[in-house]
Amino acid sequence: HSKELGRNTYNFFTMQMNQDMNRRLQVEEQLRSALQRQELEVYFQPLVDIRDRKTIGAEALLRWDNVKLGKVTPDEFIPIAEQTGLIVPIGRFVMEQAFTAAAQWQKNYQNNFRIAINVSPKQFRDSAFIEVLTQLLQEHQLASHCVELEITEGVLLSGDPVIAQTLSELNNIGVSISMDDFGTGYSSLSYLRSYPFDTVKVDKSFINDITVDPGDLELVGAAIAMGHGLNLNVIAEGVETEEQYQLLNALKCNYGQGYLFSRPVPLEEFEQILQREHQT
Ligand code: C2E
Ligand code: MG
Ligand code: MG
Ligand code: MG
Repeated sequence: HSKELGRNTYNFFTMQMNQDMNRRLQVEEQLRSALQRQELEVYFQPLVDIRDRKTIGAEALLRWDNVKLGKVTPDEFIPIAEQTGLIVPIGRFVMEQAFTAAAQWQKNYQNNFRIAINVSPKQFRDSAFIEVLTQLLQEHQLASHCVELEITEGVLLSGDPVIAQTLSELNNIGVSISMDDFGTGYSSLSYLRSYPFDTVKVDKSFINDITVDPGDLELVGAAIAMGHGLNLNVIAEGVETEEQYQLLNALKCNYGQGYLFSRPVPLEEFEQILQREHQT
C-alpha cells in the first residue's frame, strides 16, 4: 500500500517538474523572438514627491504580451532573460524607450524629470553596459543626473571587484544608483556602507502592513531615518492606501510609488498624468 503511495507521490512530483520545465522552455523560446515581434512594451509608474504628491519622475517597468503564451509577468520572464543573457538586448531596448520618453517629458513638462531603470546582474556585468548607457544619454540629450539605475542585492552578491569599479564609474558619470527592494536581502546594510548609493527603495513588503503592524512601522521609520542619516533619498514602494501615505508623510519619507498614485501605465497614459498635473 505504502509503496503505491510512494510511487504516486513520485509521479506527482515528476509531473509537476516536467510541467514547470516545459513552461520554462516555452517562455525561453518565445522570449528569444519577443523583441523582433515587438511584443515588449515599457510601462511607466509615477515616482511621487511625498510632500505634495506631484509626479517627479517614473520607473520604467517592462510588459510582455506573447502571441502564444499571452501576458507573462516580469517576475517570470526577467529571471529567464537573465539566465539566457537575453536581458542584455532587452535591457538596451528598455533604456532606449525610457530615455526617449523621458527626454520628451523633460522638454514638454518638467526639465528635471527623473527616469528610473531596473538593471539586473548580467546587464550590469556586461562589459559594454557603461558605453551603451553613455551613448544613449548622449543620443537623447538626457542629463545623467536625471537617470536612476535600480539594482538589487543580486548585483552586488558576487563581490566581484568589477562591480565596484562599474559603480564608481557610474557615479563619476553622474547617474544615480538606487538600492531596490531594500530590506529583503541579507546584507543591505553593509552594501550601503560599501557602495555609492544615492537612494534606497524600501520594499513594498514592509510598507504593506505599516498601518496595522507596529513592528513594520518601526522598521520603516528606522529605514527612513537611516537613509537620511546617510544622505540618501528614501522611496517607499507599494503605497496603496491613504493611511499608509499619511504615515510615510509623517515619517518624512521623500518619495512614494504605488497603486494609490497610479499603477504602471503605457506611455500615452503616463503622458496624460503629466498633462493633467501641468495644466492651469
Ligand atoms: P521592482 O523593480 O521592485 O518594481 C516594483 C514592482 O512593484 C513592479 O512590479 C510594480 O508594478 C509593483 N508595484 C508598484 N506599485 C505597487 C503597489 O502599490 N502594490 C503592489 N502590490 N505592487 C506594486 P512588476 O512591474 O511586476 O515588476 C516586477 C519586477 O520585475 C520588478 O520589481 C523588477 O525587479 C523586474 N523588472 C520589471 N521591469 C524590468 C526591466 O525592465 N528590467 C529588469 N532588469 N527588471 C525588471
Ligand atoms: Mg525597481
Ligand atoms: Mg522594488
Ligand atoms: Mg522586486
